[in-house]
Amino acid sequence: MKIVIIGSVAAGTSVAAKARRNNEECEITIYEKDSDISYSGCGLPYYIGDSEIERDVLTPRTDKWFEKRFNMDLKIGHEVLSINKDNKTLVVKNLNTGEEFEDNYDKLVIATGASPIKPPIAGIDGKNVFFLRNVKSADNIIEYIASNSPKKAVIIGAGYIGLELLENLENLGIEVTVVEREDRAMSKMDKDMAVYLEDYLTKKGVNLILGEEVTKINEKSVETATGKKIDADFAVVCTGVRPNSKLASGIGVEVYPNGAVKVNHKLETNIDDVYAVGDVAMAWSIINGEPMYVPLGSTANKMGRICGDVITGGHLRFKGILGTGIFKVFDMAVASTGMTEEQALERGYDVEVIHNIKPNQTAYFETSREMVIKAVADRKSGKLLGVQILGENGVDKRMDVFVALMSTGATVDEFFHLDLAYAPPFSTTKDPVMYTGMILE
Ligand code: FAD
Repeated sequence: MKIVIIGSVAAGTSVAAKARRNNEECEITIYEKDSDISYSGCGLPYYIGDSEIERDVLTPRTDKWFEKRFNMDLKIGHEVLSINKDNKTLVVKNLNTGEEFEDNYDKLVIATGASPIKPPIAGIDGKNVFFLRNVKSADNIIEYIASNSPKKAVIIGAGYIGLELLENLENLGIEVTVVEREDRAMSKMDKDMAVYLEDYLTKKGVNLILGEEVTKINEKSVETATGKKIDADFAVVCTGVRPNSKLASGIGVEVYPNGAVKVNHKLETNIDDVYAVGDVAMAWSIINGEPMYVPLGSTANKMGRICGDVITGGHLRFKGILGTGIFKVFDMAVASTGMTEEQALERGYDVEVIHNIKPNQTAYFETSREMVIKAVADRKSGKLLGVQILGENGVDKRMDVFVALMSTGATVDEFFHLDLAYAPPFSTTKDPVMYTGMILE
């Protein structure tokens, strides 16, 4: 069996590694048009802002490493130009030599990821405008900062990438303004939770402009639709991504309106022996089964491993996602999973909503901090629909417990009975998760 994988970051390499672990006989080829592979995209903001994080820490593995460790052919600098699903062939271009050649497959995995959305802003192709997606794009920002010593920047988009970058640019002494089109930072949170984050950022001295659309980027400023002019030496556009699904749709693979490829629990597309994984693919909600596009490395790795198992005859199946995410900006951790209150109401749920402010550990410790938990439950099923948490310490632990409870279908009355680990440095006798269940019961 010959497996061909297109794309070699989180999803593609996971497919290959699992396929090889399951089957020593199959032939595996990966085509990657970039030269960086299997890197941590999630580390890019810190690579920019922390001089101690070297490039090779983010990109620890080379094509040769994969070839040796997993006995596969990983061809970097090779772009797949087209696929012929009838005779199971593809046309590949060696970007170093310009040579084009044909290859064939028995199983084809599309792991082509996603690319930053380029909003219609005048001046967006300027030399002082950047995107952050892969290692090269981070290198571009690092090089620009090193050679121009900029004082001011504008980040367009107050999502998690924009806010992680904000912290890292401020670490470099750059004064940052964040401009967001929506009425809130983190548009995937309810407004009543986003305000905590917005207050925190404002108190940190961040210039946060909400509800404003950037229309023009000049050499030394950025302009908005309402005529605001913000001084900036450079701008970074962090307005989301779009799946790289042209190759797939070109052979009749079904895609959603946002471009994400439709897959089933085996990561199969509607075309025989063609699979899709990672940011190019649409996931679905564990809660109600509806399509859910939350492109994250965690999901890309999982989909990749499952796909590698499926195509080598294994029994792993993709179960969907809750859309869990977490990030930090300065000392604030922001996490969310499942539906917001707004989303639950839009879908007609009869919701019970609570806000629960609790310390992460016994209050006499210096590191004790309050966290705000918003939980949205469905009165009918007695189960959680979503949780949002903001705080400085212990947010990740609580979020992961909520995720485990939601994934296993626990009802809120079960939370109090959890035998959670407790000692004063770690929690309170009744953990914030237990309190949430007690209030909702
Ligand atoms: P990609 O990483 O997009 O890789 C796809 C690859 O396919 C690319 O290298 C591309 O060159 C290649 N390719 C495309 N078309 C072709 C072709 N025709 N021929 C050959 N090669 C092709 N996720 C988290 O879970 N947690 C985080 O904290 C987090 N932080 C992030 C921070 C930043 C700044 C960014 C940018 C992303 C972050 N992510 C995070 C998201 C995560 O990095 C992505 O979800 C993950 O990289 C997706 O992996 P992928 O393999 O599906 O796609």
